[in-house]
Amino acid sequence: MLPQAHRHAKAPMPSLVLALGALLLALVTPQAAQPSSKSNPPNPPKSRPPSPNPGSKGFERLQLFGKAYVDASEWARANGCSVRWLKPREEFLISNDKLRLQLNVDGKRALLNGVQVWFSSPIVVHNGGVCFSEVDLQTLIHPILFPNRRERAAKTIVLDAGHGGKDRGKVAGPYEEKSLTLALAKELRGLLEKQGFHVALTRTDDTTTERDDRADIAREKGGDLFVSLHFNSAGEAGPSIRGVEVYCMTPAGENSTNGTSDPSERQYAPGNRFDAQNVLLGYEIQRAITRRLNMEDRGLRRARFAVLRVAHMPSVLVEGGFLSSPAEARLVANPAHRRKLAEAIAAGLNAYLQHTDPKPSATPKEPKSTKAKPRAKQTPSQLPSKVPTPEAR
Ligand SMILES: [Zn+2]
Repeated sequence: MLPQAHRHAKAPMPSLVLALGALLLALVTPQAAQPSSKSNPPNPPKSRPPSPNPGSKGFERLQLFGKAYVDASEWARANGCSVRWLKPREEFLISNDKLRLQLNVDGKRALLNGVQVWFSSPIVVHNGGVCFSEVDLQTLIHPILFPNRRERAAKTIVLDAGHGGKDRGKVAGPYEEKSLTLALAKELRGLLEKQGFHVALTRTDDTTTERDDRADIAREKGGDLFVSLHFNSAGEAGPSIRGVEVYCMTPAGENSTNGTSDPSERQYAPGNRFDAQNVLLGYEIQRAITRRLNMEDRGLRRARFAVLRVAHMPSVLVEGGFLSSPAEARLVANPAHRRKLAEAIAAGLNAYLQHTDPKPSATPKEPKSTKAKPRAKQTPSQLPSKVPTPEAR
């Protein structure tokens, strides 16, 4: 894990195979298709009424380290998967023909259909069986495998170019983070607008914008989704650290990926209303970037960054590469690379919306001649394949 890199916290990542896994699991276990309501206390995002937790019945919870834990093998069986050790007491695999969840024991890292994701609590061995925490089941695994659909489609995306004005962000040689984030935000805005989205930026020029104000700006602009754009720095860890990280809000009561937090900081925050959407959005963006670009997958991580903590909508923060790596800084400053990075983030957003937007009506009331244009043109590789989502059953 990175040392105190940058001002934001840090963490690793997810995919299409994932969607397939979700489908399969959903097909195998009817009750597994329900979203969790447990981690979204008051004011759940206006999606749908609370429903039973997926796969949460039929096997017992253990109390380990003062937390509820789940036996991974029991969860796997309940969801139609098999289990085996890839490396004894190190790497444990839960899989079927649609899902591959590789757990690194005694740590917090896992590979979920090829994408690195960081758990909130350690994955451990207890009485010979591999266990992970109930919180990770409900705020990481299930929201990604069993997405919920919203009542209305997301239309407005707010892009937040990190830093600006007096706050230059990371400065490395000729490169300033504040300029690179703004360039990326504008590139991404152009792509998304062509796809039919309404896009707003928290800043459009080199102005100072307080971090605490950015979430409010996003709300004023009517945002449905919020993506904060940054570039990373490894500090004393040195120039060899490189790769992509995507952050979403830390679940209430849990530690962030890059360090333990003061108990007073772990309480439920407004951004936790969107725990399920945050993690799915972050997963899809991390997956899209690491699949499309030859950049190291440092994973989907958790942090209580200001813009995530007070968020009024599903929100993530993208660290699109390390400026502290001379090689990666040159890459990030290259317009052709930046274009690809923007395309990958747009693909991740669209993959998320494929899971969460309302299903198109089977019997459209209006003839095809209406001028409604398709919002997002996707290539087959971006689509969640044919995998029916759980609601589609
Ligand atoms: Zn930054």
